[in-house]
Amino acid sequence: MDKRISWIITLLLVATFISSPSFAASSAKIIASFSVIEDLVKRVAGDDISITTIVPIGEDVHRWELTPPNVLAVEEADIVFYNGHGLEPWIRHLKAMASDRLTLVALAEMADYPTLTLQQGQYEGSPDPHMWMAPQGAAAYIDVITHTLSARFPERADAFRTRAEEAKDALSLLDQQVIERLEGIPHTNRLITMSEAALSYFAHAYGFEFAAIWGLNSETMGSAHDMASMSERLVDKRPPALFFESTTPDIHMDALARETGLTLAGPLYVDTLSEADGPAYNYPALLHHTTELLHEALGGARAEE
Ligand SMILES: [Zn+2]
Repeated sequence: MDKRISWIITLLLVATFISSPSFAASSAKIIASFSVIEDLVKRVAGDDISITTIVPIGEDVHRWELTPPNVLAVEEADIVFYNGHGLEPWIRHLKAMASDRLTLVALAEMADYPTLTLQQGQYEGSPDPHMWMAPQGAAAYIDVITHTLSARFPERADAFRTRAEEAKDALSLLDQQVIERLEGIPHTNRLITMSEAALSYFAHAYGFEFAAIWGLNSETMGSAHDMASMSERLVDKRPPALFFESTTPDIHMDALARETGLTLAGPLYVDTLSEADGPAYNYPALLHHTTELLHEALGGARAEE
């Protein structure tokens, strides 16, 4: 074959390969700010889009600082999915280095789900970022993820939509399972007390009263004043149990439990999933673990006997 014709055929083949849908989407570089968002993005994106997650499992998303590998990943990324509403204070550094072609998507800020406001602390009155702790809030994240991926990779839109419908059906089922499991907890025991005000969406969705020592982990944790007012509240309410979180040292809740003689239970997983062999290895497991912990510690099992 003529050498020139051979070259032209090769170039045409390469051009066809580059413009083919599978190549375009599989070469996409997506970033998730932390493990819960990574889990939700994967449910829509499928396995053939690579996702890099900024905050490693077990670390606190509120107090993370960008590392050199994070910066390298951002430089090569197409889309960054983050939560927003102040969950990731470090996102401002990421925005400062973002190129024009990088799409930044704040899921909680764009989600079609009612926003609750923080009731205490430095950010009192600001939107509470922990919207994913209600399954229907997570479903609203799925919609934003699907819309974003479909706009960027239209050739894959049908597959994204199919997976999103499956994910949302699973979240509705999960929501029902949580409702049924928590039903047995007596009305007088329906009080969640923890360090960070991270379960207000969950509490609101499932009919619990909610109390925390501070607003967000990014502010001062457990000042003498905050500890004293929580102690007073506990003496007054005497809930069956107090809870600590996986990303926060349990010293504050432990001190309150000792002082009041109340039981301490945990950990709750909110701002991170657990490792693969832990109880919150993915988003549904995180919700199931939360539900089982509350059911056990607040007397759901005793009520069913
Ligand atoms: Zn948090």
